[in-house]
Amino acid sequence: MLSPLDYFFGLFSLDIGIDLGTANTLVSVRGKGIVINEPSFVAIEKKTRRPIEVGARAKEMWNKNPKNIMIVRPLRDGVISEFDITAAMLNYLINKAHEQTWVPIPRPRVVVGIPSGVTEVEKRAVYEATIGAGAREVYLIEEPVAAAIGAGLPVQETRGSMIIDIGGGTTEVAIFSLGGIVISRSIRVAGDELDEDVVQYMRAKHNLLIGEPTAERVKVEIGSAYPLPQERTALVKGMNLVTGLPHTVEVSSIEIREAVSGSVGIIIDTVKDALDDTPPELVADLMESGICLAGGGGQLKGLAERLTDEVKIRTYVADDPMTCVARGAGRVLEDYNNLRRLLVGLERGSTRH
Ligand code: ADP
Ligand code: MG
Repeated sequence: MLSPLDYFFGLFSLDIGIDLGTANTLVSVRGKGIVINEPSFVAIEKKTRRPIEVGARAKEMWNKNPKNIMIVRPLRDGVISEFDITAAMLNYLINKAHEQTWVPIPRPRVVVGIPSGVTEVEKRAVYEATIGAGAREVYLIEEPVAAAIGAGLPVQETRGSMIIDIGGGTTEVAIFSLGGIVISRSIRVAGDELDEDVVQYMRAKHNLLIGEPTAERVKVEIGSAYPLPQERTALVKGMNLVTGLPHTVEVSSIEIREAVSGSVGIIIDTVKDALDDTPPELVADLMESGICLAGGGGQLKGLAERLTDEVKIRTYVADDPMTCVARGAGRVLEDYNNLRRLLVGLERGSTRH
């Protein structure tokens, strides 16, 4: 129960939900919606290890940065590999969200979405980084749970529901019933891996050397998991590996589908594997409610159709799939009494080192 004092403060305080994604970090503020949506990139000055840019401006420098600057993706594989840099990024973003409010209000309460399966040490690291960034209270929630809440799935109810959240570094699959996760899977195959597939394909089939940013653009433009009603082409600029000179190649959506098919297959097998372990009664529920796709990678063209075809359960993309985690994390504070049991606890006395 909220004490009257908590309730009083709640009226004036800032409630924030944060999606600490491997590709994008989003901040939602109660009553305002998404106020920050920035790539999880930090530009660091090598000599001092001081962050000089965060977010979109740091991503723009990716693969073109001068020698004295290093571009870091501190969450790249779904774990916090660079604690100090993650903390600096959180600090910058929370302060930016705080600055956008025009009344002087107490420090915010924050719910942070973390990849499922992170270790106790990593959880503690996020907790400390968020406190260090000026939060008054910090709660952690597993990303698939936040994604499901944000997508409007009935996670509190008896009937089953299912989310597939495909981000940059990880794909998370979770099946809910009775207010908790019944089955879950987390794999390190997601959007980044598809980009890598495109880089490899262009090198092997077209002798063209391209960077990850170009590969990502090609994937978003013409990548797919299922034949498209109208196949397309894209022009890809890179360096010819034979001549060493700049070169442009035209590729088709059929080729790019082929390039990413291995990784897409792994994601589909993971979904099938989770469904294999699901009790039949729950599968029957899912056949009614369908499977919800969230995360940026969930928008891959034809993925919903392909999954529907392969697992025989209607699969659909959530509304605004890239903001589900931040919106879901934010909603927990609005309905704290009902949703708090979905939060992740921290072991008492555990420390960062
Ligand atoms: P994270 O939660 O890890 O931060 P996001 O949910 O923000 O990740 O998704 C980022 C990933 O989604 C990136 O790999 C990006 O390339 C991919 N992505 C974004 N839009 C599309 C699209 N339209 N088609 C395919 N992939 C996409
Ligand atoms: Mg995510």
